Amino acid sequence: MNKPTLAIIVPCYNEELCITSTVETLLKLLDLLIQKDKIKKDSYLYLVDDGSADGTWEIINKLHQKDGRVKALKFIRNFGNQKALTAGLEGVRNIGCDCAVSIDADLQQDENAIEKFIDEYMKGADIVSGIRNDRKTDSFFKKITALMFYKTMNILGAKIPPNHSDYRLVSKKALDIMELYPEKYLFLRGFFNELGLKTTYVNFDVKPRLAGESKFNFMSLMALALNGITSYSVVPLRFVTVLGFFMALFGFLVGVETVIEKIFWHNSPNGWATSIILLCVFGGIQLFCLGLIGEYVGQVFREVKARPRYIKDIELK
Ligand code: UDP
Ligand code: MG
Repeated sequence: MNKPTLAIIVPCYNEELCITSTVETLLKLLDLLIQKDKIKKDSYLYLVDDGSADGTWEIINKLHQKDGRVKALKFIRNFGNQKALTAGLEGVRNIGCDCAVSIDADLQQDENAIEKFIDEYMKGADIVSGIRNDRKTDSFFKKITALMFYKTMNILGAKIPPNHSDYRLVSKKALDIMELYPEKYLFLRGFFNELGLKTTYVNFDVKPRLAGESKFNFMSLMALALNGITSYSVVPLRFVTVLGFFMALFGFLVGVETVIEKIFWHNSPNGWATSIILLCVFGGIQLFCLGLIGEYVGQVFREVKARPRYIKDIELK
């Protein structure tokens, strides 16, 4: 196999404190890989400014003027990290590359693992996923919720390894397949795992954030998890159906029992507590199931409107 043209995609949202040093580091890495004869000279960076409100875009502009290998795209407003990544993947496919790696702007993921990604690519892998060595830098809460999410996804049939992140290499072939998927919301971690292309894994270390703050809060992580699940799997809906069936059966049996008791033993009242408990439990389950179905209705609603995934403002090629 020929050595590839590599595109490194960096989603940036209010990253003015990180972006200069990140770009310097990544350009040095490109130079190093070119020197080692692992990638072609026309390899480049592709920064996606996800509608930053700070000076991120001005800085990117300067970096582009200084070095033509810094290419960039600016969204008209904030669309979220998954959309920025999707735009990055589509953007580098249009510009042209043999493989693309996505990495966070705060360089929390060890950029030196990219060399190992390339080695795996040269051995024939179409997708190389980065797996975090540990989650030392994450809060206890994030660790627990992340674990719950990956467990749920695995039960639902998405074989995403835990501690997988959006740090991965994908080949041109995978990018071409992505174009065939018309859906507006692509949960990239599930999507690339499902394609059936040759996939390998590389471990990497997680570092503390370079500067600035995490752009994710509880609500945005929750949205990512729910969108991930509902855009990917309908198993929860089937679960609701099965649960509903058994609940109905249970209700029917309890009903029969009550009637028999009333007719033959005439000792009805008792069991106030039981009624309250059943009321609450059934009420809760019903609300949960309704909410679950609502999530899918929402997903259908978003897809049916067929709005653009994101809106480009400026592109620097
Ligand atoms: N990001 C983005 N759009 C958003 C939120 C985040 O493009 O709406 C980018 C952000 O600039 C960074 C990456 O996604 O490059 C990961 O974000 P962050 O480091 O804040 O997340 P964490 O590492 O805390 O999970
Ligand atoms: Mg980060």
